[in-house]
Amino acid sequence: MQKYEKLEKIGEGTYGTVFKAKNRETCEIVALKRVRLDDDDEGVPSSALREICLLKELKHKNIVRLHDVLHSEKKLTLVFEYCDQDLKKYFDSCNGDIDPDVVKSFMYQLLRGLAFCHSHNVLHRDLKPQNLLINKNGELKLADFGLARAFGIPVRCYSAEVVTLWYRPPDVLFGAKLYTTSIDMWSAGCIFAELANAGRPLFPGSDVDDQLKRIFRLLGTPGEDTWSGMTSLPDYKPYPPFHVTTNWQHVVPKLSTKGRDLLQRLLVCNPSGRISAEDGMQHSYFADLNPAVKQG
Ligand code: ADP
Ligand code: MG
Repeated sequence: MQKYEKLEKIGEGTYGTVFKAKNRETCEIVALKRVRLDDDDEGVPSSALREICLLKELKHKNIVRLHDVLHSEKKLTLVFEYCDQDLKKYFDSCNGDIDPDVVKSFMYQLLRGLAFCHSHNVLHRDLKPQNLLINKNGELKLADFGLARAFGIPVRCYSAEVVTLWYRPPDVLFGAKLYTTSIDMWSAGCIFAELANAGRPLFPGSDVDDQLKRIFRLLGTPGEDTWSGMTSLPDYKPYPPFHVTTNWQHVVPKLSTKGRDLLQRLLVCNPSGRISAEDGMQHSYFADLNPAVKQG
């Protein structure tokens, strides 16, 4: 730890505390994440360490780079590339207005980062604005990748805050254990709507039941006809058959017709019907994307 000089605390998240720090030799600014583990007397589980070390190989411009993993008896410190702010803070600073080109650029970069991870069989499983980092030059990077697999899906934050359900898909809310890439695609849809509405969350549920009701009110209550296997999920319970009268123009007024089409392909209750990150990037919504973003 002599290698880094801690500067200031920049965040507290699901797994621990994050500090801004400086590499004493190179003067490079990094983010240090001290991971706290539930059963500290056991030390760092080897399964978690294996997962984390795999993440060091996950190198992409839209993924926060994991430079180093420092591991002592009971502590685990992850050394990440430093970014200026997260998307939640960006929302707070944008005063209810985000340029449609910025929405498009962020969404494209989100899908590109996801496509890369999914092609390497790494899932995020806890995508939300706090886990998307932004740089001054408009780059978006996914943070916290793969940690859910290493440490388990969080139920409670380290900081005693309750983990938000707002970005969880209906299959996970019904207790599905077989996680696939589709879980991240649902979260991407929720974040897309939130971007388009300059930070207003799409489904701000207060508990699992309220979360599912909000989803079904907007998308209609699914049945076995559209989602075969739903009623066999571990925590399945029936919901009233909400009729879909959704006017998407009211849900995301600032989004173009093509943008609304992409959004609806992400927000599909049946996980097998959700568009993939790779296919999402090819959607016509991105036809007029700034070429500089596409080249990255
Ligand atoms: P957790 O896994 O505990 O949720 P995060 O990695 O999401 O931890 O970090 C918590 C917060 O710290 C983030 O929401 C963000 O505001 C800040 N943060 C995390 N990593 C970085 C980074 N590399 N650069 C800048 N800020 C970061
Ligand atoms: Mg986080």
